[in-house]
Amino acid sequence: MANLYALLAGQFPADRQRPFATTDDGSVLRYADVEAQSARYANLLGRLGVSPGDRVAVQAHKSLDMLMLYLGCLRAGAIFLPLNTAYPTAELAYFLSDAGPALLVCDPAQAEALQPVAREAGVARVETMGVGGAGSLPAAAADAHDVFATRDAADDDIAAILYTSGTTGRSKGAMLSHGNLASNCMTLKDVWRFTADDVLLHALPIFHTHGLFVATNVTLAAGAQMIFQESFDVERVIAALPRATVMMGVPTFYIRLLKEPRFTRELVAHMRLFVSGSAPLSADIHRAFREHCGHVILERYGMTETNMNTSNPYEGVRRPGTVGLPLPGIDIRIADRESGRELPQGDVGVIEIRGPNVFKGYWKMPEKTAAEFRDGYFISGDLGFISEDGYVSIVGRDKDLIISGGYNIYPAEVEAALDELAMVRESAVIGVPHPDMGEAVVGVVVPLESGFADDRALTAKLVDRLARFKQPRRIIFVDELPKNTMGKVEKRLLRERYAHEFG
Ligand code: ATP
Ligand code: MG
Repeated sequence: MANLYALLAGQFPADRQRPFATTDDGSVLRYADVEAQSARYANLLGRLGVSPGDRVAVQAHKSLDMLMLYLGCLRAGAIFLPLNTAYPTAELAYFLSDAGPALLVCDPAQAEALQPVAREAGVARVETMGVGGAGSLPAAAADAHDVFATRDAADDDIAAILYTSGTTGRSKGAMLSHGNLASNCMTLKDVWRFTADDVLLHALPIFHTHGLFVATNVTLAAGAQMIFQESFDVERVIAALPRATVMMGVPTFYIRLLKEPRFTRELVAHMRLFVSGSAPLSADIHRAFREHCGHVILERYGMTETNMNTSNPYEGVRRPGTVGLPLPGIDIRIADRESGRELPQGDVGVIEIRGPNVFKGYWKMPEKTAAEFRDGYFISGDLGFISEDGYVSIVGRDKDLIISGGYNIYPAEVEAALDELAMVRESAVIGVPHPDMGEAVVGVVVPLESGFADDRALTAKLVDRLARFKQPRRIIFVDELPKNTMGKVEKRLLRERYAHEFG
């Protein structure tokens, strides 16, 4: 199989004047520009001494230049390594010394502060990239030759290293091959029925698998278009929705849209598809969205290490609170947390994944990699079960499992019961140390109306809905749940914050 870029380019529209991306300032990047710009970056990489297999680390604001650099890396056989813009300099030192990139591309405003960090980590070159073509790298690319013969690549050649979100511990660098990315985007294009007529509203960050691979690769693979926005801004999203056919988002996007009076049924009547992922979408929000605007959000499940694994069907039932069916060509099994034995259908256990989407291992962590595989399956670290008709449900992460008085309690089940209550906007359920029970269930709740703090009213309503051992021993009201940039609730933080609730 080919270089991922070559595969994507094979799907570009015959009319290369068709737009690939438009931005809110009215600029348009056409498919002809995609070819020329990615060639310029590929040529420039060679001139800067970046060889095939070298890492190109990028911590910069979301921009189309950054996407063209990504494609340039693919074409030149370099490994694209985007870094979360939220990492402060001190954390960046870890990623740079871990990844050993040949080139670091950073925001112009950060260059001075990062020079010594890069030097310390042995990074040979630092260049800058800002928005709107600012920075030393876009300037140099403008002078580079706009034709490049895309290098051959084997399926297993590494195309990118993405660090996991660090929700459960230190981020790990996941090595993704050309074959991994190619198989997943072609599958998603098919199952989500993408065509050249689609216009994707892209408001996700591009240092993460969702915005970079799912959104961008699928758009390219369909020869479609995107409305490329710097970040999620509810005003700008509402202004752009009339021009879009598809939106991909994290649950927080949908929660915010629902709060916005101008987000109406009429505004999105023409839309073809809303996709959600990266964090659990509560069945409650799923229903509220449907009632509000008539669209049934399509929830899917993936992770940095594997791209996407499951999706609710395009046609057929999109079942709230589930992440749908395994994607074609991907096997999912449920194994016992401890023994690793495959469990019978319906039982809760660790979700394990096998398929052409599964990564090549954690960068420089062969032991960790080996420990996360059994029988050719990747051990996801998520707990779930599969319904009789094949739908996968996630009940929480293995590391978030609560063991109270000897019982296993799956946070998602308690969260779903809380979220269904009229007074609750959102909730997160955690286990905290308890002298008698080992751990006690604590519900951290964002009330629908701020100021509401009647924990008894909530617990009374749970009596008929949840077995006694699953009911929260304590409810804590907060204005907001701590979430990272991907809208994932930071349960580690919550556990630390409420560690001493019971002594
Ligand atoms: P780390 O591995 O560093 O702790 P992380 O697992 O949050 O961080 P990502 O790879 O960004 O890093 O996220 C993948 C995880 O996101 C999945 O393992 C799963 O727990 C969660 N996730 C993704 N999509 C969904 C979904 N639709 N429903 C529930 N959880 C989801
Ligand atoms: Mg993970």
